Amino acid sequence: MDALQAISQFIKDALTWRVVLDVFFMGASLFLLYRTFMRLGSWTIVRGVLLAIVAFAVANVLQLQGIMWAYSNLSQVAVIGLIILFQPELRKVLEQAVSISSKDQRYAETGIADPIAEGLFRVAERRWGALLVLPGKEPIGRHLSGGQELNARPSPAIIQSIFDPNSPGHDGAVVVEKGSLALFGVRLPLSKTNVLPYYLGTRHNAAMGLCEASDALIVAVSEERGTITLFRNGTYRTVEDQDELVGALNSQWTENSQYRPVWGPAMRKSKLVIQAGFCLAVAFIFWATIIHSQGEILERVFTVPVEYTATPADLALVGSKPEEVKIHLSGPKSELNPLRPNQLIVTIDLSKGTSGEKPYFVTEDNIALPRNVSLLGVEPESFRLTLKRIIKQEVKLKPQLVGRLADHLVLKEVVLTPESIVVLFPEEKKGQKPPEVTTTPIYLDGIKTTTAILCKIIVPPGVQPADKKWPDVQVVLNVEEEGVK
Ligand code: ATP
Ligand code: MG
Repeated sequence: MDALQAISQFIKDALTWRVVLDVFFMGASLFLLYRTFMRLGSWTIVRGVLLAIVAFAVANVLQLQGIMWAYSNLSQVAVIGLIILFQPELRKVLEQAVSISSKDQRYAETGIADPIAEGLFRVAERRWGALLVLPGKEPIGRHLSGGQELNARPSPAIIQSIFDPNSPGHDGAVVVEKGSLALFGVRLPLSKTNVLPYYLGTRHNAAMGLCEASDALIVAVSEERGTITLFRNGTYRTVEDQDELVGALNSQWTENSQYRPVWGPAMRKSKLVIQAGFCLAVAFIFWATIIHSQGEILERVFTVPVEYTATPADLALVGSKPEEVKIHLSGPKSELNPLRPNQLIVTIDLSKGTSGEKPYFVTEDNIALPRNVSLLGVEPESFRLTLKRIIKQEVKLKPQLVGRLADHLVLKEVVLTPESIVVLFPEEKKGQKPPEVTTTPIYLDGIKTTTAILCKIIVPPGVQPADKKWPDVQVVLNVEEEGVK
């Protein structure tokens, strides 16, 4: 009971109009593929592929890592292989999909069914053989070979003349197009299936071949038995009288304008409904296993940077602070797998900080996590941060003199411009001395006369300039010879 509840909950949570559409289209494609492949006799390979899909679904549900690895790594190669293997079948499926939308193929075929049917019955009575092709909506040119143009208006006489065994053009098939006998002596492709009984020879086999490969209707007249057989969509039946043949020819033309892609008239509706339902079910199971595996909960660890923001204007963050932390996340595979470390950042908001040392904890509030992903833990879980009050003070600059002048020289005066500078520094304790601000070292050894030097400023860590940037300092060394007044 629990399992049923879990399944219904799962369906309730995941079933949206997108999913319904998705499953519907997958099912429809599957149905189209299934019917085409059935008709073309590639059923054995399809069974193999279906078995492979089922195995994949089972492996996914049972979490069989090895099989899943093999599938995920070999499936693309397999798909390319299947595309090459099934190139003719896939081409057919696409041709059908396209021909569903084309409506301009209704020709003026009316009035020619009777002379054709009559001609064929006369041929049958004489025990001559005949083959006649009525193309459907799909182009059949690529399946045909040989043949010569005729372009004659159908009449019983001309049909008998063509199939007269004494005439040089009686071998092969006649193709009816746009209301006329367009070609005669045409060779048709042989069937790849073994559905025909042994007593039907190559003529009937060729009729079967073309009706498997296209939506054409083929009429075969047997010279051995004098029977007339109709071939369409991979099925065949014998016609008993002329009216039945006329009906079949007409229905092939009327069906052209109202395309019915894959099922022939012999196909029972209930069987189709079962097949369509089966395809939908397979599509749904496929979708459910994919979603199921995507919904699987994973755990992952990321190392992410820490950003400190909104420090109050009169406070400064001093001392050690972590630059990055390890976060332990858990969530559905679909959310976690595409997540990259650079999409994550831990933000510590210092806006409410006050002077002093305080512990900070990293929680879900500090990280923008995708929906359904939760934070399991952080390393370090907490850390201490010290905020100190900032003191603003003007400090006298000190020149940093290194070495000494030559013996006969005297350093009379050192002039710094600017003389002092306003600095900001964190308050360590009450009444502390201001920090020492000096210039970069000035080496006296090489200096012979009064010299002006441009220096940078050196400050202890934590000390900041009041104006964004440290200024350069000009240092003038006033040097005189000893004894000179
Ligand atoms: P029947 O019942 O009339 O004897 P069958 O099915 O037994 O027909 P065959 O006896 O082998 O077939 O008939 C051979 C004739 O079928 C050939 O003379 C030719 O006219 C026709 N035929 C055979 N193969 C093809 C083909 N690929 N395309 C068109 N016509 C073909
Ligand atoms: Mg024969």
